Amino acid sequence: MEVLSQRINSLPVSATLAMAAKARELKNQGIDIIGLSLGEPDFNTPDFIKEAAVQAVNDNWNSYSPVDGYADLKEAICDKFKRDNQLTYTPSQIVVSTGAKQSIANVCMVLLDPGDEVLLPAPYWVSYSAIATLAEAKSTIIPSSIETDFKITPDQLEKAITSKTKLVMFNSPNNPSGTIYTEEEYRALGKVLEKYPEIYILSDEIYEHINYGTPHFSIAAIPELYDRTITVNGVAKAFAMTGWRIGYIGAPEWIAKACNKMQGQITSGANCIAQRATIAAVSAPVSAIQYMVDEFASRREIIIELLTAIPGIKLNRPQGAFYVFPDVSYYFGKTLKGKQIQNATDFALFLLEEAHVATVTGEAFGNKNCIRISYAASEESIRTAVNRIENALK
Ligand code: GLU
Repeated sequence: MEVLSQRINSLPVSATLAMAAKARELKNQGIDIIGLSLGEPDFNTPDFIKEAAVQAVNDNWNSYSPVDGYADLKEAICDKFKRDNQLTYTPSQIVVSTGAKQSIANVCMVLLDPGDEVLLPAPYWVSYSAIATLAEAKSTIIPSSIETDFKITPDQLEKAITSKTKLVMFNSPNNPSGTIYTEEEYRALGKVLEKYPEIYILSDEIYEHINYGTPHFSIAAIPELYDRTITVNGVAKAFAMTGWRIGYIGAPEWIAKACNKMQGQITSGANCIAQRATIAAVSAPVSAIQYMVDEFASRREIIIELLTAIPGIKLNRPQGAFYVFPDVSYYFGKTLKGKQIQNATDFALFLLEEAHVATVTGEAFGNKNCIRISYAASEESIRTAVNRIENALK
């Protein structure tokens, strides 16, 4: 008899990882699937980072690291925060974790109590709501649409706040929409939050460097909010290091201490070799990874041009990250190749089955009208995939 906990039974499967697994499974059956579901750079980790890892192996960095990360890595992260974000953190405010996902989970576990409310401006990354649920908090979704470039307004934010609101999670550049909040927009949202000192802010900046020209702004740079903002970042996306699993936070010291305690009971310090390699990554000038950003920028142009030519697909112009988030609601209520399309999930499944292109339903990101397509794939894959989508929809 299976007697799993309520906790796991009520936890949704990660839609991004589930779609990637499904695509992998179909590929293994010999079906030619183009996987545009996972947000993962298709580049190799840069050589200077690999060399730092090899050096660490040869220098016998094989013992447990401090739970919150090596001291020199934390120093390097403080330097990075100062250089890129004009944020002053001391090493005691930094916690290094096994991916930004664990950083976010730590923060939720140490801040949220049952019944607390978490505000999620939508679209939001799939795991935010699931992690909030694990912490027994309730998620409140603040909707947005393609018409507002997937941004929420200060008024919407204020209306969503209740006496139970404990945390709001921002993500700019956004996964899945690519939207970037400008400094001005963040300051306007910040004005609302200044009125509610009991609300904490998690700012997920993992796509910071995958940016096509809008200056990145860290909400913790607003002095009135610094003391209750947790800035999350990591090396996965910018440095093509998804599998190395290193994320980190800069936070008020009492929150960092609590995350350290939480992590000490669950995973201990992150992988020692990956941490040594991360010193090289975060210390490098941003110009060292510009070639990847340039490539993503050119793919963005290609995918926008190709998708815009398909009738019924509405697109915004993502300013960062490597996803497009088209509104496909035009197709809802229609029958395509004998299949009823009622919603974005049906649409994504249709694309998988009929076009052999893996995408992710917007429902997993809190938006019912859109699907997410990753363009962290070769130009050829992008062109073939969109061609197949167009033919399937004809
Ligand atoms: N963050 C990436 C994505 O959204 C990786 C998969 C995941 O961890 O959800 O595709």
